[in-house]
Amino acid sequence: REHTLGAGLVPLVNRLQDIFASAGVRGSKLVDLPCIAVVGSQSSGKSSVLEALVGRDFLPRGPDICTRRPLLLQLVHTPAVRGEPEEWGEFLHQPGRTYTDFEEIREEIQAETDRTTGNNKGVSNKQIRLKICSPNVLTMTLVDLPGITRVAVGDQPEDIETQIRNMILSYIKKETCLILAVTPANSDLANSDALTLSKQVDPEGKRTLGVITKLDIMDRGTNAVKYLKGEVVPLRLGYVGVVNRCQADIAERRTIHHARKLEAEFFASKPEYKEVIKNCGVHSLSKNVSSLLADHIAALLPDLQVRIMRERSEAEKELELLGPDAPESESERAALVLAKLEKYAAGLQAAVEGRSAKLSI
Ligand code: GDP
Ligand code: MG
Repeated sequence: REHTLGAGLVPLVNRLQDIFASAGVRGSKLVDLPCIAVVGSQSSGKSSVLEALVGRDFLPRGPDICTRRPLLLQLVHTPAVRGEPEEWGEFLHQPGRTYTDFEEIREEIQAETDRTTGNNKGVSNKQIRLKICSPNVLTMTLVDLPGITRVAVGDQPEDIETQIRNMILSYIKKETCLILAVTPANSDLANSDALTLSKQVDPEGKRTLGVITKLDIMDRGTNAVKYLKGEVVPLRLGYVGVVNRCQADIAERRTIHHARKLEAEFFASKPEYKEVIKNCGVHSLSKNVSSLLADHIAALLPDLQVRIMRERSEAEKELELLGPDAPESESERAALVLAKLEKYAAGLQAAVEGRSAKLSI
């Protein structure tokens, strides 16, 4: 599980939440993590990337148009409870029914897609909402979106391209959305649908991370090193290259764990990727996303401190009014939290700095 999304952040965020809970700071939407959306052309590997980040098999994937409705995936961190299933999913359209078999989750996504859009490649902007509860995830939202297509097939309307573009833009225009712009390595990065779209809403590239997929099926004699170094299309947050499962792996039901092993072997066998190895693999992607989330949390901390200090001084005022018989003090608790938060902020800052020093080499 060490490779999954936010692995290192889970304990940090939990601690932060504990600190606030212990102070009885209520209604604090403290760790309001940004949502993460994948964009790109059809079959570029978006669903595969999301799945790899979550570390579980549960999304429909394939060479055809598989993702035909937006899937809003709410990850909910739940403490492990003995005797209870560790990880489970629940759909908004089937309240009360819990899924512990992730294969069944995939089947239900497919069935529910068909219920709205028919089974002839139709597309709809009606969301499917799936909640996954697990001790291994951070509470946050991921969005899997249909990919850009140009030619209408099956039941698709003539303006399918415009419709899908608008659907994607409606998600990624939010400032709080982190965009994973997915481009397969065997297509031209300069023509990337993903980057064209993300530039529309994030021209400065402040929240767009480039993901190059399918490094394993590039034309023989070529590699993606220039892409990964940002020499073809510069991107402020840079790129990560990954190798996910091919269709044959999916047909043979190779596990996600197996996919990571093959990915590691791929990079180990390609000396040309040595110079950009920090930008290679799902593990790096996960680390990269985690550190963007850490930056986000670090940016929230000063604001939180202000809020706690305000609560503290209000509590102090109340205490003064009460005089010497004041009960167990709110103020003392707030002061304690403030001290803890300061320590936490320093720790997080150190972690962020240590990491960015590593990344900038
Ligand atoms: P999406 O349409 O962008 O969501 O793409 P999918 O994740 O459904 O993947 C489309 C197809 O490409 C599937 O058949 C995958 O098995 C295959 N695929 C995805 N990533 C890779 C990769 O890194 N290498 C190879 N060889 N195939 C991949
Ligand atoms: Mg997909």
